[in-house]
Amino acid sequence: MKFDLVIIGAGPGGYVAAIRAAQLGKKVAIIEKEKQLGGTCLRVGCIPSKALLESSRLYEQATAGINDRGIIFSKVQLDLEAMMQHKTGVVDTLAGGIDGLMNKNKITRFSGHGRLGGNHTVVIDSSDGEETVEAANILLATGSVPTSLPGIEIDGEYVGSSTEALKYGDIPKQLVVIGGGVIGLELGTVWRRLGSTVTVLEYLDRILPGIDTEIAKDALKIFKKQGLKFQLNSQVTGVKPNRKTVDVLIEGQESIRCDKVLMAVGRRPNTANLGLEAAGVKVDTRGFVTVDSHYKTSIGGVFAVGDLIGGAMLAHKAEEEGIACVEQLFSGYGHVNYDAVPAVVYTEPEIATVGKTEDELKEGKIDYKIGKFPYLANGRARASGHLEGKVKILAHAKTDRILGVHIIGANAGEMIAECVAAIEFGASSEDIARTCHAHPTLSETIKEAALAVGNRTIHF
Ligand code: FAD
Ligand code: NAD
Repeated sequence: MKFDLVIIGAGPGGYVAAIRAAQLGKKVAIIEKEKQLGGTCLRVGCIPSKALLESSRLYEQATAGINDRGIIFSKVQLDLEAMMQHKTGVVDTLAGGIDGLMNKNKITRFSGHGRLGGNHTVVIDSSDGEETVEAANILLATGSVPTSLPGIEIDGEYVGSSTEALKYGDIPKQLVVIGGGVIGLELGTVWRRLGSTVTVLEYLDRILPGIDTEIAKDALKIFKKQGLKFQLNSQVTGVKPNRKTVDVLIEGQESIRCDKVLMAVGRRPNTANLGLEAAGVKVDTRGFVTVDSHYKTSIGGVFAVGDLIGGAMLAHKAEEEGIACVEQLFSGYGHVNYDAVPAVVYTEPEIATVGKTEDELKEGKIDYKIGKFPYLANGRARASGHLEGKVKILAHAKTDRILGVHIIGANAGEMIAECVAAIEFGASSEDIARTCHAHPTLSETIKEAALAVGNRTIHF
């Protein structure tokens, strides 16, 4: 069988690229080793974590959160199995949807492990044996896998990655999270809400590296108030399993005894048995596949996108790259504007960000103006009880062009879309300040922050 494009890996990078190539009239095949399509994002990432975040938020609200509104629940109970079944149902439904999209777009699907076979071929290993397909072009989109610390094995029992933390059968009494990044905070929040005592151990002196420092400091204060425990500047040196518990050993500090350890110190590119070395595909020192601005690897006709090539490990970034790669290949033009790729942390409050952080502007010696507006001065935030948070807009000192927007607060993940569009269109803070925003909405905080860039905020 011969295809215009063969894609290895059906995560957001791979399956979206497959659909776009099919739309462009190409004969496309996709190879996935797992039963369900959708990749890390759908099976063990974005979607199941958001299902648990939403369910645990409802549980916390029912148990403690809304007595001050005159709504009193009694005898609230937690059925963890049903909560997990809901999560699984969401994943199954969406995976079925992707199957339908593959059929609709006449994309040939292979189940099995794909690897480069050399000379424009891909070899598929499955329980049925080995099969070789010919490909004019090959796209590698095999994503990433959890990483651990030296000397600590992810055994799946005491020490697990996010994959295990998305399906604990019981609520751990004591949960230790290693890593105060996105996974640690999102899943730490889920289990804290469901009743665990959660301690986050972070190597650095801050949480959420990469997020604007001021916003990360605000977040730390809020999460502490919610009951998450933090030990910053903590270097974990090992774990010592007991019969039913595990001790987490920390350099120069007392060890912590817990029921479960969630290892959340980052992810590494998934290049296992991909045939990269034999084919001569270059990787960088951390194992990420090296590509040029058109997602071409060091070998002609072989491309790579998504988590596999590094940068922000985000589903929408992988999707944009998949589409840009395929469009570039088959229609001659494709592009990702990395300055306009948002990132969202789905804690409560949410944290959403796009463009440059204040730290980056300082480091790059770029002159900037700042406008900030707090949630507590917004009518809708007051009415709905979401008083924590702020919007921070960074604009160029001379041109007023928006360089970055950082939001911590309710619905930040939805609100950031306006700011992404503004950056994509090269808007100034004045453009947002003069744009009418509906009242009462949380999005008025963005307009007010834009007004604040010019020192003329109305409601604060
Ligand atoms: P992946 O999604 O990892 O897909 C790669 C696919 O390739 C997998 O299905 C794998 O089975 C398959 N594969 C690998 N090797 C082979 C092979 N040799 N042959 C055949 N198939 C192969 N991002 C967000 O933007 N928002 C979020 O809210 C978010 N939440 C997350 C929560 C968690 C707990 C985790 C772990 C990640 C989260 N992410 C989130 C990150 C997001 O999941 C990834 O950035 C995204 O899935 C990357 O897409 P990808 O297509 O590059 O790779
Ligand atoms: P991360 O890079 O976000 O955070 C890892 C954290 O672990 C960092 O704070 C780091 O300083 C810390 N760390 C590293 N070594 C350590 C050590 N020895 N001891 C203690 N702490 C240590 O990685 P993650 O949270 O594992 O997430 C992996 C990827 O998945 C991220 O790139 C993220 O973008 C993606 N993801 C995204 C979302 C989202 O978009 N909402 C959600 C989950 C995951």
